[in-house]
Amino acid sequence: MTTFLGLPPVTAPRGVGHLRGSVPFPRAARGAVGDAQLRSNLAHATTSIRAKRAAVVTEVADWEQLRRAGAAIKAATMASLDEHLTALEDAVTARGGTVHWARDANEANRIVTRLVQATGERDVVKVKSMATQEIGLNEALAEVGIRAHETDLAELIVQLADDRPSHILVPAIHRNRAEIRDLFRHRMPGVDPDLTDEPAALAAAARSYLRERFLSTRVAIRGANFAVAETGTCLVVESEGNGRMCLTLPDTLVCVMGIEKVLPRWSDLEVMLQLLPRSSTGERMNPYTSAWTGVTPGDGPQAFHLVLLDNGRTAALADPVGRDALHCIKCSACLNVCPVYARTGGHAYGSVYPGPIGAVLSPLLTGVQDNASLPFASTLCGACYDVCPVLIDIPSILVDLRRRHVDETVTTVPSAERVALATAAWAMRDAGRWRRAGRTGRVGRLLARGRGRIRTLPPPLSGWTASRDVPAPPTETFRDWWARTHE
Ligand code: SF4
Repeated sequence: MTTFLGLPPVTAPRGVGHLRGSVPFPRAARGAVGDAQLRSNLAHATTSIRAKRAAVVTEVADWEQLRRAGAAIKAATMASLDEHLTALEDAVTARGGTVHWARDANEANRIVTRLVQATGERDVVKVKSMATQEIGLNEALAEVGIRAHETDLAELIVQLADDRPSHILVPAIHRNRAEIRDLFRHRMPGVDPDLTDEPAALAAAARSYLRERFLSTRVAIRGANFAVAETGTCLVVESEGNGRMCLTLPDTLVCVMGIEKVLPRWSDLEVMLQLLPRSSTGERMNPYTSAWTGVTPGDGPQAFHLVLLDNGRTAALADPVGRDALHCIKCSACLNVCPVYARTGGHAYGSVYPGPIGAVLSPLLTGVQDNASLPFASTLCGACYDVCPVLIDIPSILVDLRRRHVDETVTTVPSAERVALATAAWAMRDAGRWRRAGRTGRVGRLLARGRGRIRTLPPPLSGWTASRDVPAPPTETFRDWWARTHE
């Protein structure tokens, strides 16, 4: 397969889909951190979304109460998730839809593939959906000769480039306008060879390309932002109208949704639809909010299938600390404020869920050891917690995942880090030992050679000085200073 801009084609791991990173984060991040164009694209995009969010959040007087209400709705829903899901199944079935349960990515892909094959169609239109990216659905459909056409503009850019999304909400955040123009010229059938990089021109090119797909494709696949158990209604919010087209024009609609997206009552949307658009796109309301309930004879798709996806979610639900990550409404506000994400972009995380929420959600869904480096991809600054509309304490979950990773990797050969921490703990347990340890600062000052910082240390401590300096110890310890000035 040819690649665009040197990016490798996407391949789908089995079982968990695209949740598992094949390369540890520090290694994957190295190239991204050295890419000045990528950093500039990311800085521009995250800064402007952050500013928009801050402006629309500030104008809501009861924003903090809304956040607490959102967190409470999610916590109460998770406490009886099984009941809400069966209520949702009953309501969808009563309105003429069909509900399918998928334990993992493979099962979900098999179900959707079978449903599309039953229609006899070879093409489907797709609306941006994290759940279908998570399971690697496009690749699974391609294996049986079914073409999935992404209709969200950013997803279309990613698909045309054989690229991977790098942001939950803005999948092509790593691309600038000139790159997109070049991509359209090379990869979009029928595009004007003199296409400019003006946003309106790019949007017009995409619109005319997509119009053909909307009018000729009989099957649509999409996710859902929420599903209401009491009415059996699925709901999506979007900005481009492509979702509305896919919900109304095709004959068959397949919705793939993580089981955590269910809400018990219609009235819960009152809270969620205030929190989500402000936190995600920085808008008071999304341009398109579409809700559909089962099948309505003579109006819209006449076959509706809802695939409820587990893929590690029930395991995460059983986790006393990590289960709060399932409250996530995928607004991506935490990505836009994260200093690590802003420098590495989403690809370094390996998993389809990048940024702070990806660093907790991916290991929880796959098991900590399958995404072991992700909980360490954070400065623990807490900015993600500050902006999260449903109050997910991401830093605390990260720390717990780190502890679990360390506990699970105990070996008979102690690492340099373990030896250093064990030595420090031993010294701190005894006042005399700690006093004597303080005096070793003299050695550090010698290594600093009067520069105020130590640039290199011998192994195993060289791992630290390979990427940062160590401040030279002061000439006087705190104890010596105290004795000199107070005794
Ligand atoms: S963790 Fe919170 S801030 Fe991050 S995407 Fe989820 S809901 Fe949004």
